[in-house]
Amino acid sequence: MPHRQAVESRVLLKRLRDALAEAGQGQERLDRITDIVAASLVAEVCSIYLRVGDELELCATTGLKAEAVHRTRMRVSQGLVGRIAETAEPVKTKDAPSARGFRYFPETGEELYASFLGVPIQRLGDVLGVLVVQNRAARDYSDDEIYALEVVAMVIAEMAELGAFTGTAETDLPAPHRMPYFARGVVGQEGAAEGVVLMHDPEIVITNPMADDPEAERARLHEALERLRDEVDRLIGDDDLSDSGEHRDVLNAWRMFAHDKGWVRRLEESIESGLAAEVAVEREQSATRTRMSRISDPYLRERLHDLDDLSNRLLRILTGSDHLADGAIPEKAILVARNIGPGELLDYGRRLSGIVLEEGSVGSHAAIVARALAIPLVIQAERITHEAHNSDPILVDGDGGVVHLRPEENVAEAFRAKMDMLAEAQEAFAALRDKPATTRDGTTVSLFMNAGLMADLPSLKGSGAEGVGLYRTELQFLVRRTVPQREEQARFYARILDAADGKPVTFRTLDIGSDKVLPYMKRQEEPNPALGWRAIRVGLDRRGVLRMQLQALIRGAKGRPLKIMFPFVAQFDEFRAARACLTDELERERKLGHEVPENIEIGAMLETPSLAFAPDQFFQLADFISIGGNDLKQFFFAADRENELVRRRYDTLNVSFMSFLELIARRCDEHRTPVSFCGEDAGRPMEALAFAAMGLRQFSMRGASIGPVKHLLRSVDLSEARRIIDQARASGSQSVRPALQGWLDTIDAPYISK
Ligand code: PEP
Ligand code: MG
Repeated sequence: MPHRQAVESRVLLKRLRDALAEAGQGQERLDRITDIVAASLVAEVCSIYLRVGDELELCATTGLKAEAVHRTRMRVSQGLVGRIAETAEPVKTKDAPSARGFRYFPETGEELYASFLGVPIQRLGDVLGVLVVQNRAARDYSDDEIYALEVVAMVIAEMAELGAFTGTAETDLPAPHRMPYFARGVVGQEGAAEGVVLMHDPEIVITNPMADDPEAERARLHEALERLRDEVDRLIGDDDLSDSGEHRDVLNAWRMFAHDKGWVRRLEESIESGLAAEVAVEREQSATRTRMSRISDPYLRERLHDLDDLSNRLLRILTGSDHLADGAIPEKAILVARNIGPGELLDYGRRLSGIVLEEGSVGSHAAIVARALAIPLVIQAERITHEAHNSDPILVDGDGGVVHLRPEENVAEAFRAKMDMLAEAQEAFAALRDKPATTRDGTTVSLFMNAGLMADLPSLKGSGAEGVGLYRTELQFLVRRTVPQREEQARFYARILDAADGKPVTFRTLDIGSDKVLPYMKRQEEPNPALGWRAIRVGLDRRGVLRMQLQALIRGAKGRPLKIMFPFVAQFDEFRAARACLTDELERERKLGHEVPENIEIGAMLETPSLAFAPDQFFQLADFISIGGNDLKQFFFAADRENELVRRRYDTLNVSFMSFLELIARRCDEHRTPVSFCGEDAGRPMEALAFAAMGLRQFSMRGASIGPVKHLLRSVDLSEARRIIDQARASGSQSVRPALQGWLDTIDAPYISK
């Protein structure tokens, strides 16, 4: 950077600082800034537009008509100012009226000014407003001038965040982050919670955005960078990474960035121009976040995320917030984070009342852990990490996938009423715990629970489940940084059987690949991972891991009955091979003198439509079959279960899917092969009822769903449900849902959630 440019912007910042030290409150400060910038840049106009909701408001001006202040408003995207806010890019022109998107606001008197230069006022990728200068004559603003204006905009952004422009007068701006904020996200885990925000990333407060001794500031930056590099090296050198949230790829990316000369040079340039080291880091972070929002390549996005996380660490060092005791978790804490790893979430554990993530996906590991812990979770809640601050009141509605931050009292009241109703229903369901799921006309259905973490097991007893119908063994692998070895696995499986206390547990062998990539496994670049090398395909091709797991399961059982099933079996041969592998291991263990279970059942998961049409011999050889409805449905409709655009496009109660399930139930019945349904849909009362009407008699679901499903089944006549479904099918309906819904609405029973 040319030295002159830095000196000029430093002089400008110094003037600004002196003037602001004398200025009083909100509006006066804004007015001072526009005066000084206009004078320094020899501009006839300087204006500050700040974002209020979805609009930009002219909040201060030198040069435009005073009566337009707090009157002129435009939508983000409207006019040149709106375009700057929308794109987070500067705009300059010598001939504003003919520039693309120009819009004229007559009350401002701006028709006199031909030249226009505007830059975004942004903080951490969040556009808070726009800073503009204008001149009458055609003027080509230089790069130095753009740079100086950007530096001032950084300072304005920091001050706005600190509430420096707010005041009590009617025209003053409301304090930032005090207004209610509502976000509609996606359901991650049902349930509702009221509490206070706990930010996963510590909040960084910068009290002095300007610094006029660049030497001292540069020294601070380098000292902090040294500490940062040491920290990263220490994490990399740490053999056991199991307790830290990061894994090796991320750490390597961090090391690369921490030594990146370009990054450090840009930080130094910002300091040279008069910004404090922290603001220099934030400036780079803003640029990274803007880039991030435009990149769709998942790998590059991940790396930009890594850089963002590293910047946060550097900021924590610079602001001294890395020493803060982070062990203190407030009562009723609702965790707010951009995203979180499963290990980190387990560390918080049940101390959280709810979780809100800005990103995340339904099948992510964090979502799986939240489900295991039964903590309400909303994912993809837009801008929540920008809006929320520690201790803000917050309501999380995991059923609707919505979040109310700093809610108005009437919203909070309605929410509490809903929570009371839920609690009442829970009590009613709990009363059914030891009663069978028998319909009014006498058909009994067995209800089991899905599990995947030790944390799930304590709820087995209270849920009223007959056992664990699906134990997803990969979760224990996913939350670890290294492969758990055979003896450790065996101890773990033994503990699960101990905790189940005699109730049956169906262990599913590792289902990895697709979205479930182990941290220590080399990621396979596959064009379509859900249809790729996953689950039993990996197990059969890499026998070592499968065999070790089977040995561990046999040893963990210590002679107790054992149920094992293989995921994602697409054809008979795969099942035959996997079954043979297990019988070989049984023989081998017996020979080694280990106690082997006398009673062992070997099953297959039916998750691809192909297996429904397998030869009869498959149904005869399988001791049981478990329908993995999540996968089966995505392959039946060719609709990615993780893709929000299509995930809900096809109703589970679509007549084609109903008929398909009926066919599977019938084939299993013909061969007397026990069959259960263990996808998420089994936990939805109306779906479970429809499946039972199609002939299925065993379901496995989240523990919390057992009560509502049992309650509905006990309230209805199954043959009547079947009649309604058949009628809907015969009538050409696409889904049996409307007919079932209409019928259930006529049933007089409380708490029927349909
Ligand atoms: C399923 O596909 O329905 C299933 C139970 O397995 P997962 O959700 O673990 O893929
Ligand atoms: Mg599956």
